[in-house]
Amino acid sequence: MHAVRLKGTVKNLRVGKVVCLARNYSDHIKELGNETPDKAVLFIKPSTSVIGDREPVIIPGFSQDCHYEVELAVLIGKWGKNIAAKEAMAHVAGYGVAIDMTLRDVQNELKKKGLPWEIAKGFDTACPLSDFVPAGAVENPHDLRITLKVNDQMRQDGSTAQMMRRIPEIIQAVSAVFTLEEGDIILTGTPAGVGPVKSGDLMTAEIEGVGRLEIPVQ
Ligand code: MG
Repeated sequence: MHAVRLKGTVKNLRVGKVVCLARNYSDHIKELGNETPDKAVLFIKPSTSVIGDREPVIIPGFSQDCHYEVELAVLIGKWGKNIAAKEAMAHVAGYGVAIDMTLRDVQNELKKKGLPWEIAKGFDTACPLSDFVPAGAVENPHDLRITLKVNDQMRQDGSTAQMMRRIPEIIQAVSAVFTLEEGDIILTGTPAGVGPVKSGDLMTAEIEGVGRLEIPVQ
C-alpha cells in the first residue's frame, strides 16, 4: 500500500491517483521551448510510482536522461467532482514536496509522435513524496520558496508565486475531468532549472514551511 503521512494527525492516507499539471511556470515553459497552454495540461502518475523520503529513484534501463522537477504537492482530503474554484481550498488536507521524475528522452520521443507521456512520467519510483503538513499550517501556499539541489548544488530556486494557474483554479480544472477522492494528490508544476541526474546523485528538494525530501538516485 502506498500511503502518505499527514503530520499532526494519526492519519496515513492511502494514495489514490496523482494528477500532475504540466507547464505551470513560464520560465520552465521557456527552458523546454514549449508553448503556454490555454487549457490545463494534465497527466497521471499511478500510486505505484510513489516513494517516500530517502527511498531511491531507480532509473529504468530504457532511459539515458532522467530529470528532476520539484513541485508543490496538494493532498486532497475530501471527495469532489466539478469543484468550483471558490470551494476548492476546502478540499485540501495538506501540502507536501514532490519530485516529478521525468525520462526526458522518452518524453521527447513520445511528444514528437503525439503519444501519451505515462512511460516517461509514471514508471516505478517516478513520484518521490514527503510527509504532508496540514493545510491550516501553511498561511499562503502561493508564496513559498521552492528549491532543488543535486549533491548540494542549487539547480532549481523559484517561488510558488510564479505559478500561472493557482491551486483553486487547478482543482477546478482537474475535478472537471477526474473525480477527486481523499488521498488523491495534485502536483502543481515546476519552476525553471530542470536537469538530469545519474546513479549516485542525491537530490534535496525543499519547500519553505512545507518540508524537505532527500532522494538518492540508484
Ligand atoms: Mg512536472
